[in-house]
Amino acid sequence: MKKNCLEIVRQKCESCHGCALGATRNNIVFSDGDAATARIVLIGEAPGETEDLTGRPFVGRAGQLLTEFLTEAGISRDKDVYIINTVKCRPPENRVPTDEEKAACRKFLDAQIDIIKPSAIILCGATALKSFVTLDKKQTISKLRGQWMTVSVDGVEYKAMTIFHPSYLLRNHSMEEGSPRRLMQEDLRNIKDTILPDVNHTEDVISDDVVSFQELASV
Ligand code: SF4
Repeated sequence: MKKNCLEIVRQKCESCHGCALGATRNNIVFSDGDAATARIVLIGEAPGETEDLTGRPFVGRAGQLLTEFLTEAGISRDKDVYIINTVKCRPPENRVPTDEEKAACRKFLDAQIDIIKPSAIILCGATALKSFVTLDKKQTISKLRGQWMTVSVDGVEYKAMTIFHPSYLLRNHSMEEGSPRRLMQEDLRNIKDTILPDVNHTEDVISDDVVSFQELASV
């Protein structure tokens, strides 16, 4: 059921030219992971070159590193995590997506979360964090990562945690205590212990209050 609803959203996304990124993409990068079993939605920034060519998120070097960290924490990338980005099309030169681009693409992001109804959302990197939280000057990703917070999507509250983006970890190799890689490891283990204390997976069911999806599907 979830997969059927997501397929409707995907089809709308594939024909979307709601912002300038639609003119330069090779492929939309819709999602990765098993929607029927995933209890966590992980949100990254935007597709890069490899993602644009393959149509899958987090498949370049940073994606491979993310997979390694998830696996180390006992989180299955294939079964436990549904991976998406703040925008579905690659920004030229891998620049950060603009607020306007993120706003134009937000209906797809919200619909995906709406359909999955995850037990938790992982905000991967500053761009994903800023899509859900307005930061003051003292709030940085270094200070906020690793803390459980609540984010709201269409009136539904979700448990959420910010983690470093794996591309940041590609430039920081240390596993010393307090290093970015060590903190990433600790955060993902925290998420695993809190959200996935057992290995049972959810059924492919969908609740009847999928607000964003229903709005999108009716257009
Ligand atoms: S980034 Fe999102 S809003 Fe912009 S064209 Fe692609 S799918 Fe449409």
